Amino acid sequence: MKDIIEIRKDFPLLQKEIGGRRIVYFDNAATTQKPICVIEAVDEVYRSYNANVHRGVHVLSDMVSEAYENAREKIRDFINASKKEEIIFTSGTTASINAVAFSFGERYIKPGDEIIISNLEHHSNIVPWQMMCERKGARLKVIPVTDRGEIIMEKYVKLLTEKTKLVAITQVSNALGTIVPVKEVTALAHQLGIPVLIDGAQGIQHCQVDIQEIGCDFYTFSGHKIYGPAGTGILYGREKYLEEMPPWHGGGDMIKSVSFEKTVYNDLPFKFEAGTPNYPGFIGLGRAIDYIRELGMEDISNREKRLLDYATEKLSGIDRVKIIGNAAEKVSVISFVIEGIHQYDAGMILDKLGIAVRTGNHCAQPLIERLGLEGTIRASLCFYNTEEEIDTLAEGIRKVIRMFY
Ligand code: PMP
Repeated sequence: MKDIIEIRKDFPLLQKEIGGRRIVYFDNAATTQKPICVIEAVDEVYRSYNANVHRGVHVLSDMVSEAYENAREKIRDFINASKKEEIIFTSGTTASINAVAFSFGERYIKPGDEIIISNLEHHSNIVPWQMMCERKGARLKVIPVTDRGEIIMEKYVKLLTEKTKLVAITQVSNALGTIVPVKEVTALAHQLGIPVLIDGAQGIQHCQVDIQEIGCDFYTFSGHKIYGPAGTGILYGREKYLEEMPPWHGGGDMIKSVSFEKTVYNDLPFKFEAGTPNYPGFIGLGRAIDYIRELGMEDISNREKRLLDYATEKLSGIDRVKIIGNAAEKVSVISFVIEGIHQYDAGMILDKLGIAVRTGNHCAQPLIERLGLEGTIRASLCFYNTEEEIDTLAEGIRKVIRMFY
C-alpha cells in the first residue's frame, strides 16, 4: 500500500486547518472525504463534456453516456455482480432500500406476510419496511441482538417461517461497527426460498464485497461512503426479481414507448432509473472505485483493522470511558460513552479541539435504546486516519474528563 503521508496528500480536505488546527476527521461512517482524482473527475465532466445522458445524438451526449456506462461497469466489477443490467443507479442507500420496499412490496407482499430485519438497523433499513408493511398489511419481525451488539442467530432461525417474504439486514452496524455474518444469514433464508437484501452502506467501505459469494438478492450502498460524490447510490438486484418488479418511479428514460393508452417500460437497468441522474456523480464514483482498487481493498481492510486495534487499546485504557459494542467481528468504528458526561457535551468539546466525531443515536434509535442508552460518541476511522490522530482523540477525551471532574 502507498505510504500514509502520500495517501493523505490525495485528500485536499485533510490538509485544511480550521481555527488554526488541522482537522482530525473521525466521522467516516457518516461520509468520507474525497480524493483529488474524484473531485477532478466531476469537475472535468462539467468543464469538458457536459450533456444529458442517453438523450442526444450529439457528440457531447455520446461522450458523457459512455463515461457514465463505464462507471456502471466498474461498479459491477467492484462488487462482482454477474450482469450490468443488475446495477441500478439511485441517489443513495436510502433511495435504494425504498425502491425495493415499494417495488418488491407491490409485486410480492400480501396481508399477513412477514419481513425480517434486525435490531442493528439504521433507520433507512427500518422505516421503508414499516411503510411497506402498513401499505400491504404485512408484519415486521426483528432479530434481537446481544449486549455485545451481535445478532442472535438462533432467534433469527426461529423467525424464518413460510410467512417470511424477505430478510433485510445490514452488513455492518453504523452505530457499533459489528460485522454481521451476511453469508450465513443469506444461506439460512435461501433454504426456505426467501430472498435477502443487504444494506451495504457501511460494509462497502471496509470489506471486500463479492455479491455472488454472499449470495444475496439485493445489495445497496451509497457512493459518498466510499470516497465518491454525494447523491450517488447503487441498488444491485437479482435479475429474476428486477424483471418481475414494477418500476417505482415513472418518467423519462425508464420507458420504451409512451402513449396515453399504454406505456412500455424500458429494459433493465433503465426501468428503475427515471429522470436525469447524477451523471457527474456516477462518473466520479467510477473514479473513486479506481482509486480504492489502486490502494487495494485487502490492504485497506488490514490497515483499518490495525487502526481499530490501536484505538480500542487507547480508549479502553482511559478511566470512565466505556466502549459500546464488542462484537468479535468489527470494522473500524468505535462507539463509546464517558461516565457522567453527556455525549453532546463531550462531542462539542472534542470539536473545539479540532476532532470531528458523531454523537447521538446514529440514526439507529431502536439499537441505542436496546442497549439502555440515550446515545454514544462515535469515532469512525478509515484508512487515511493515523495512529497520531487516535492519540489526539485519546488526549482530547482526557481533557473532556478533566473539565468535568
Ligand atoms: N444504512 C446504514 C447502515 C448507514 O450507515 C447509512 C448512512 N449512515 C444508511 C443506511 C443511509 O445512507 P444514505 O444516507 O447515504 O442514504
